[in-house]
Amino acid sequence: MNGYRKNSSIKCPLCGKRHTIPILYGMPSCEAFLEEEAGKIWLGGRKISVDSPSRYCKDCRKSFGKASESFRIIENVLFFVGGFNRDNHFIDISLASNSYILTYRHLLPFNSKSDSTNSPIEQTKKLSVEEVKYLQGIIPKLYILEWPSSSIDSNILDGTQWSIEIKYQGKRKIKKHGSNKFPPYFTELVKAMSKLNGGQL
Ligand SMILES: [Zn+2]
Repeated sequence: MNGYRKNSSIKCPLCGKRHTIPILYGMPSCEAFLEEEAGKIWLGGRKISVDSPSRYCKDCRKSFGKASESFRIIENVLFFVGGFNRDNHFIDISLASNSYILTYRHLLPFNSKSDSTNSPIEQTKKLSVEEVKYLQGIIPKLYILEWPSSSIDSNILDGTQWSIEIKYQGKRKIKKHGSNKFPPYFTELVKAMSKLNGGQL
């Protein structure tokens, strides 16, 4: 009864609020019914599968966090953040066939005066086993699967654009992008990418 109560302040990937609770599956006990009444857990029904969500948001009433996401093996991550008037950062992480290569491209704003010298700065580094483990562990915690496929604020011209693409072993791919609008876990994603990129971002 105790294990699932921790992490009670996990942020909802859809609305960003922290009123999320664990979902309990199976035949509920009396204690579980009381906990549900008190709003501490959500009863998810008797059946559970790897695609069953693990948490429920009391604010937007959506559930999220499939267990299956944490078992998937990442092959490739492509991240971009930038815009016409700002620095453009591209991170390409390849874990296919144990290559563990991170390629970072940095391009100055497209409108910068010195057009002739605006060639991308490109760096590659080999990720350590620890860094790969960190990446595999952090990605499911950002609930990228649950992000809207596009987050766009069309009232702002230019500004900041971003995209994230994750390719998993076995053809599965997640792709999300946005413009001047950022899902609740976007900052955490930037931090993770920056960490793997030696603090550059
Ligand atoms: Zn929510």
